[in-house]
Amino acid sequence: TPVRRPLMAGNWKMNLNHFEANLLVQKLAASLNEKQLTDVETVVLPPFTDLRTVQTAVDGDKLLIGYGAQDLSPYASGAYTGDVSGAMLAKLGCTYVVVGHSERRAYHHEDDATVNAKVTAALAHGLTPILCVGEGLDVRDEQRHVAHCSEQLDAALKGLSAEQVEKVVVAYEPVWAIGTGKTATPEDAQEVCGAVRQRIAESFGAETAEKVRILYGGSVKSSNIAGIMAKPDVDGALIGGASLDAEEFAQICRFP
Ligand code: PEP
Repeated sequence: TPVRRPLMAGNWKMNLNHFEANLLVQKLAASLNEKQLTDVETVVLPPFTDLRTVQTAVDGDKLLIGYGAQDLSPYASGAYTGDVSGAMLAKLGCTYVVVGHSERRAYHHEDDATVNAKVTAALAHGLTPILCVGEGLDVRDEQRHVAHCSEQLDAALKGLSAEQVEKVVVAYEPVWAIGTGKTATPEDAQEVCGAVRQRIAESFGAETAEKVRILYGGSVKSSNIAGIMAKPDVDGALIGGASLDAEEFAQICRFP
């Protein structure tokens, strides 16, 4: 079995200006040593307007921190006012891009076909998509969460080859646990992360499934990360609120 390097990705959402972004990245890098930054891949996902700031900080001081965006256009270029292409992100040194976050699905009506097009566009530009799947409370109450996440996964990976899928990072983010303080139990996280890996194995082969990193996201904090990371199919976390505090995020990255 290949060793999957743990990934901690901080989703800043619509927070932090240029000065705050610079400060947070510097503090984060300063509070983690080289071994920690090598053992655990540490990534920040700022708003578009902070990407150049983060690029300058990371490049200038050769920081072992990766960065990416929270969304991208499914199109390569053209008359799409307000949108940002994968090529633009790649040019800024981004290596990751979040696709299909529940907030975009809800507030921007992103459907499965759009999510599929965005995953495809990200890969075409050499970006690693962090593909979010997850159920709302209604679906969880009906105990349909595994089927729901499998359906979102199938739709998002439609038309991709096994070679492409092995580059994708999947994030299981139960909507009822995002920003609510309600963390899924480690067992809840494992149930869906395990099912996601199983589903990838069925569709793209066991070898591919073993390589894909699967994250948990939803009210992750330094106090609950260890239990979640102890589960075999959880390879990291997507962290919202707690990633806005450098010391707290660094503490999460120091989970082992
Ligand atoms: C997220 O939105 O990706 C997330 C996990 O948020 P939070 O950690 O704040 O629940």
